[in-house]
Amino acid sequence: MALIRSRDTSPEKLVRRLIHKMGYRFRLYRKDLPGTPDIVLPRLKKVICVHGCFWHGHARCPRAPRPTTNVSFWERKITLNIARDQKVKRSLKVLGWKVLTIWQCQTRNVSVLRGRLKRFLDGA
Ligand SMILES: [Zn+2]
Repeated sequence: MALIRSRDTSPEKLVRRLIHKMGYRFRLYRKDLPGTPDIVLPRLKKVICVHGCFWHGHARCPRAPRPTTNVSFWERKITLNIARDQKVKRSLKVLGWKVLTIWQCQTRNVSVLRGRLKRFLDGA
């Protein structure tokens, strides 16, 4: 399971760098919150999750081709991850947190990404 939770991945670093430049302060991997979210902005009560397209099963994503060997093994693993992510998101929302999910493939266009982050963080 260690592979699923790869920390300090480059898409995540990029997101961190962008929101830091916007002047936001955040904490990482808050263990007291459901799912130990990647990026937490406690004062805004907002959470940003950066998901790898393959591990988290980004639907219809060209960057997340399903393996052609051991198909049932991977399908099961990824399906479990998707279910887990949904549960975590629900739990966070119940606790009053706003959640933004950024997929790995959405970090390639930096100006689009910056706009999304800004809208999420500036919004009510
Ligand atoms: Zn994707």
